[in-house]
Amino acid sequence: MSEFAELSGRVAIVTGAARGIGAAIARELTSAGATVCVTDVLDAPLADTARALGDRAIAARLDVTRAEEWLAVVDQVVEKFGRIDVLVNNAGIMQFAAFEATSAALMQKILDVNVMGVFHGMQAVLPSMKQAGRGSIINMSSLSGLMGNNAVSAYATSKWALRGLSRSAALELGLMGIRVNTIHPGGIDTSMGNPSNLPREQLDEVFSIAPLQRAGDPGEVASLVRFLASDAAAYISGSEIGIDGGMAAGQYFYGLPGAPRLRRS
Ligand code: NAD
Repeated sequence: MSEFAELSGRVAIVTGAARGIGAAIARELTSAGATVCVTDVLDAPLADTARALGDRAIAARLDVTRAEEWLAVVDQVVEKFGRIDVLVNNAGIMQFAAFEATSAALMQKILDVNVMGVFHGMQAVLPSMKQAGRGSIINMSSLSGLMGNNAVSAYATSKWALRGLSRSAALELGLMGIRVNTIHPGGIDTSMGNPSNLPREQLDEVFSIAPLQRAGDPGEVASLVRFLASDAAAYISGSEIGIDGGMAAGQYFYGLPGAPRLRRS
């Protein structure tokens, strides 16, 4: 009997895979049996990640904002492995700024990576997935793509945009056997989710605003990606799945029954 959400023989591309959530996704997909092309703009960490993954991984430099680099990577993967079954558009950037201090240049930079990067990736894999008559595209949105947050208006804009892109694509690409879903992490312990590199106990205190009372691990996001990549999720498309300790469920009225005690002073 095969293992749940196993991916033997499947071929995946993961962007932003040098570190953080992307590296965890690459580990999870290879351990589920997939062959993975890990991509990033951080050459040395990318090479380390690929080396640690062993035989079933190759590394390719890919700046997701560059359509021509996408085409080259896709050609390389198709030539080497015959097809692409899974695309994980994980690469992303965030920069804190008050809305009042958000320049057009900052907005553009974030949209270029977080939205155009995903658009180019989906366009680049489409011919191969269409020909195969199947595929799973997983786009990394955010908790900030489900709600507003202060200091991240450009980032939130980009992550909301992925929902429109993904839902619209899910309608059209579903006719070709291709599934498109977004996932919405929040409070994950990476250099983006924990920029001050707080010890885990302190980070969990910060995320005592979450029903589950803690931050999340990159591996927990990777498990969800593995599931969506696999045939266990064969009937899931156009969905938006949170992985945020319950933060998107709503907002506590602190001091009233049912709210946790804020652990942070
Ligand atoms: P991270 O900063 O550790 O990883 C992001 C990766 O993307 C880095 O390796 C970076 O080099 C790469 N990248 C940036 N610009 C790129 C470009 N132009 N081309 C190719 N690669 C590029 O952060 P992370 O937490 O692992 O984030 C991964 C994804 O998860 C991002 O899309 C992020 O928005 C999303 N996310 C993270 C959290 C969290 O709490 N950590 C929450 C919500 C969403």
